[in-house]
This record gives sequence, C-alpha cells and structure tokens, in this order.
Amino acid sequence: MGEGATALRGQLRTMVGEHIPADFLGAFTEDPADLEIAQRFCGLLADRGLLCLAWPEEFGGRSASVWEQTVVREEMWAHHEPRGAQYMGINWVGPAIMRHGTPEQQRRHLPPITRGEVIWCQGFSEPDAGSDLASLRTAARPVEADVQPDGEGGTARQAGDGGWLVSGQKIWTSYATMAQWCFLLARTSRGARKQQGLTIFLVPMSRAGIEVRPIRCMIGPHHLNEVFLDEVRVGPADVLGTVDDGWKVVQEVLAFERVGIARYARCERLLQAAPSALGDRWDDLPAELRGRWAGMLVHCRRARLLAYRVLALQSQGRVSPVDTAAYRIAVTKLDQDSAEVLMEMAGLARLAGAGGRRFSRAVQDHWRYAQASTVASGSIEMQRILLARALLAAS
Ligand SMILES: Cc1cc2nc3c(=O)[nH]c(=O)nc-3n(C[C@H](O)[C@H](O)[C@H](O)COP(=O)(O)OP(=O)(O)OC[C@H]3O[C@@H](n4cnc5c(N)ncnc54)[C@H](O)[C@@H]3O)c2cc1C
Repeated sequence: MGEGATALRGQLRTMVGEHIPADFLGAFTEDPADLEIAQRFCGLLADRGLLCLAWPEEFGGRSASVWEQTVVREEMWAHHEPRGAQYMGINWVGPAIMRHGTPEQQRRHLPPITRGEVIWCQGFSEPDAGSDLASLRTAARPVEADVQPDGEGGTARQAGDGGWLVSGQKIWTSYATMAQWCFLLARTSRGARKQQGLTIFLVPMSRAGIEVRPIRCMIGPHHLNEVFLDEVRVGPADVLGTVDDGWKVVQEVLAFERVGIARYARCERLLQAAPSALGDRWDDLPAELRGRWAGMLVHCRRARLLAYRVLALQSQGRVSPVDTAAYRIAVTKLDQDSAEVLMEMAGLARLAGAGGRRFSRAVQDHWRYAQASTVASGSIEMQRILLARALLAAS
C-alpha cells in the first residue's frame, strides 16, 4: 500500500483514540450522544481533508489513491464506523453524481458531502423487489405538460418535461429517519425488459408525500425503515443520468457499495483483541476453539486480498461485478463465522475485568450486525449465482 497509506493509518488511529470513546459501538444506538459523536467526527475528518480524500480535487477531494481511501474505510469500520451513515455519501452517492450528474447537481450535492454535513439514504428495495430489484413497483407518473405542436408533425415536449408524481413503497431503507436526501429508484416507463424504464431521482426527504416508518430490529435503531411515497412531485432537475436508463447507474452503485464496507477490518480487530481481553482466561479456552480463532484470522486475510483485487480494478476505472461478488461472499461469511467464534469467547471475557466486558459488548454488537450481512446489499445466494454464471460462461 505504500508509506503514505501507513502514515495515514497512524493519523486515523490517533484521531480515533483522541475523539472516539473506547466503548463506542457506532452511531446507531439508543443513545443520541453516539450520533452526535459521529457527526462531530465527520466534521473533523472533513477539516483535515480526510473525509473524501480519494475524490478528485475538482470535486473537493485530494485525488488520493484508492488505496488511501481503503485505509480510511478499514480504520473506520474497525472502530465501529465513527462516520455514521455518511460513509454512503462518500462511497457511492458522491461518485455516482460525479459520473452521471449535471454540473448543477454536482455543485449542489457534492460540497455538502465533502463537508460531512449531509446524510443520504438508498431507496431501492421494495416489499416484493429485493433480489429481483428490477421488478419494483414504485411508479413515476408523468404530469401532463402543455403539449405544443412543434410545426413538424411532432410535439415539442417529451413525457416527464412537466415532472412526475411518484407513488409506492420502499423497505429496509437504512438511515431514512435521519437522511436529508434519498437516492430513489422508480419506474418511469415499461420497456421490453424490466430493467428498462427505470430512473434515478435525487429527492429531498422533506418533500411533500414522503413518510418514514422505522422498523424495530435487533441491529438497533435507524438501520431499517419503510418509506412511503404518495404522489411525490419530482422534476427533470431531480433526474440523475438519463430518464428510463437508471439501471446502468444502479449496477455501478451496487458494485461500489458492495466493496465499500471493509468488514474484514472489524473482524480482524476483534479477533486480535481476544487474547488480551481474555487475559489469563485465554489458556482456559479449548484448543479446538483457539484453532478456529486462528483459522478466522487467515479468513480475514483472504477476504482482504479479494477486496484489494476489486480495488485494483477500480483504480483503473473498471467496475467488476464478478470480482465484487467473490469478495462479498468471502467477507459476509467471514462476518458470520467470526461472530460465532467470538461469541464463544465473549462469555469468558466478561469474567476478565473491564476490558473483557467492553470486548464482550463489542462482540455481541458484531454478532447481531453479522446476522444481516449475508442479506444487506444483495443476498449471498444471489452473489453465488452471479459468480457461478460468470465462471460457467468463461469455462
Ligand atoms: C441491514 C440491511 C440494510 C439494508 N439497507 C437497504 C437500503 O438502505 N436500501 C435498500 O434499498 N435496501 C436495503 N436493504 C435491502 C436489501 O438490499 C435486500 O434485503 C436484499 O437485496 C434481499 O432482498 P429481499 O430482502 O427482498 O429478499 P428476497 O429477494 O425476497 O430473498 C429472500 C431469500 O430468497 C433468496 N432468493 C431470492 N431470489 C433467488 C433466486 N433467484 N435464486 C436463489 N435464491 C433466491 C435470497 O437469496 C434470500 O435468501 C437492506 C437490508 C438489510 C438486511
């Protein structure tokens, strides 16, 4: 990764040590103070040019290498993501707006992300459209515009010129209760294939007709919500990219999102913390459990290398859904398998003093979150199907 990346890692660890409490378990707890810690920390990262450092300078970044951005992701995730929900703006919303947004959209949306001031949510999944996302039903109905003959047998205006009214329901929308903006996918027309006729809209969550209802779940508040859309008015200026051609953007977004969380970094940090958290009680663990613990550390390294393979392609401007799927399979399995090993150790750790109890709480939090990781951002079964199809096609 190079010396710059090593120095950056040291700088981030110092910042985390100084500004994040040792028992911090992320921004999304019952305690609103945790969200405030995350918001403040984003501001600090932004002041030091570390929030969007891989973004091009013209968009407020430092044009740092993809590897330096990786160091940031690893250190943040290892320390329970002290950027809160803002990682989404940095990892995929901003890059999508850079690639597909108009200059006006770039001017409006990118600076607040670089300053750490804005939270986005992703309005893709619906009650009957998750794995099969393209069958979503949220519909954008064109508002009748004044259609004027253009004098050449056609009409001067296109469908959508007068805007649309969006109605439907989204589900599992992370952070929708706190988000100011939604990256919304809706159907604008019916094409020969269901992937055609979909459009991305950038919509403020304050717009009339949007209602958010939280879903209670074991991973904590804010993570999961329902979003109801009732005749929400959107206009041509809210469209990201081309009307009816949103699927292309979705594919890119998902590839960026799926490699955006360095889950292996948290697993590795917790696994490495186990011996000191257990202290003398480490020797009481069955040899078989210590063997599995060592195996998990190897698994961490494997997942890290698969992530680096995808990032190497990204650094050349290439997006590879197949390599991303291979990484996602490895890292989400790692999340769950390491959570099981760590949970078996957490009981003994609770008896090993304050450090052990803190470790035990972090492990329980990791275990709860890990249960969802083979579903969030695309289920592991769908990733396996994608990978298998690609391998069979290549053989
Ligand atoms: C923590 C968390 C956060 C999330 N955040 C967001 C968010 O912010 N925004 C958003 O839009 N969505 C979000 N999601 C939703 C997520 O993208 C979907 O849950 C996921 O795509 C799966 O869709 P589904 O839940 O509808 O399950 P389904 O698609 O109904 O799948 C159910 C099961 O059937 C399997 N299955 C489905 N089709 C096939 C097939 N053809 N072959 C084999 N097996 C199949 C799946 O693998 C899965 O095991 C989040 C989910 C979680 C868990």
